[in-house]
Amino acid sequence: MHTPQSEAHRLDQTDPGHRHLFHVPPADGGDHPESAYLAGNSLGLQPRATRDELLADLDAWGRLGVEGHLEAERAWLPYHELLTAPAARLVGARPAEAVVMNSLTVNLHLLMVSFYRPAGARTRIVIEDSAFPSDSYAVRSQARFHGLDPDDTVVRLRPRPGEDALRTEDVTDYLAAEGDRVALVLLGGVNYLTGELLDIPAITAAGRAAGAVVGWDLAHAVGNVPLALHDWDVDFAAWCSYKYLNSGPGALAGVFVHERHLGDPDLPRFEGWWSTAAATRFEMTPVSRPPSTVQAWQISNPPIFAMGPVRTSLELFDAVGMPALRERSLRLTGWLERLLDEVTVDRPLRVVTPRDPARRGCQLSVRVGAGNAAELTKRLRHEHGVIADAREPDVVRFAPVPLYSTYLDCWRAAAALAATVGVTR
Ligand SMILES: *Cc1c(COP(=O)(O)O)cnc(C)c1O
Repeated sequence: MHTPQSEAHRLDQTDPGHRHLFHVPPADGGDHPESAYLAGNSLGLQPRATRDELLADLDAWGRLGVEGHLEAERAWLPYHELLTAPAARLVGARPAEAVVMNSLTVNLHLLMVSFYRPAGARTRIVIEDSAFPSDSYAVRSQARFHGLDPDDTVVRLRPRPGEDALRTEDVTDYLAAEGDRVALVLLGGVNYLTGELLDIPAITAAGRAAGAVVGWDLAHAVGNVPLALHDWDVDFAAWCSYKYLNSGPGALAGVFVHERHLGDPDLPRFEGWWSTAAATRFEMTPVSRPPSTVQAWQISNPPIFAMGPVRTSLELFDAVGMPALRERSLRLTGWLERLLDEVTVDRPLRVVTPRDPARRGCQLSVRVGAGNAAELTKRLRHEHGVIADAREPDVVRFAPVPLYSTYLDCWRAAAALAATVGVTR
């Protein structure tokens, strides 16, 4: 690798992020005190503000007991409403279209209760062959729930032979040809394995034109790329908050339902006391009166101590702004790509993420040869203090996160890879 470390220091001077707002884990090896943390696509770092905010919510419980429902500074009963507007801004939704609740796969199921309604010949669910396993299990179990054979019902779209990522046309061509058999399209906005960003508006339009419902799993897209779910006419979406949203392990997740579906009495939905309009919650009537917002998809009262970290994180995204983050992300990931080019040119390594910055977020995935990913990732961590993650059998993922990653992190990752993987001749 010929780019010198001094170049990284220079870039960190001219293009700093917001690393000072986060706790960065100490390095477990190598020459630097802090780790080069490039695993924010798996678990984002802890914002320094989270701890005090969380403790304030905890203290309110100690001080107020049950009265905290109404009297806490951030009263618990309407707590979720504090998160609605910032979550909506982040995904390009109207406030009525976004809510924070549950966890991602649970929400996918609750949304499929409403939006996967196989009928006649229209039964198929289209996913990508490299879908995250949880999504794959979820859609297969939904097919079985409807008495269908998942092997016939779930269609897995693959990249063309010799290609690593799906092309938009691979999806839209399928929908044009077979769309009248498709009930639901459920794809990852950014693929967890390859880091590919799909053309969400084009695929949504093609799916809806074919008469299907189009939902998106935005686990790897939210907080990573700008989103405009309302304008893109997306039917529904779900995301988790512990990856790019830095809200902590197992954090509460988010849901979007497009305005055109809100208040529709014909949509099946599972309900609990948080599904009824807030003003009716304590009327103790046997029949609910759900609001014409996505909050009707809520079921239970939310875990308040899990809401605080999401709120803190969303405030940070509001303060910095997704457009600025995306700009820095393009520069940072572009730089890592250049360094990886220097490393991969004469080594048995290959970047499988699309080269076009418009077709990816911040993650770059490297194919390292079958069976090598876990061992290589371990060595990066213990010998160089570089934290990346392995996805079996052969992918190592590096995600420079524009909020807190640095050019030096990228340089250390590329240099560690060069030191760890032998040159082929
Ligand atoms: C991270 C991730 C999940 C994780 O599911 P949980 O319900 O949060 O445990 C699911 N799907 C995708 C695409 C993911 O990237």
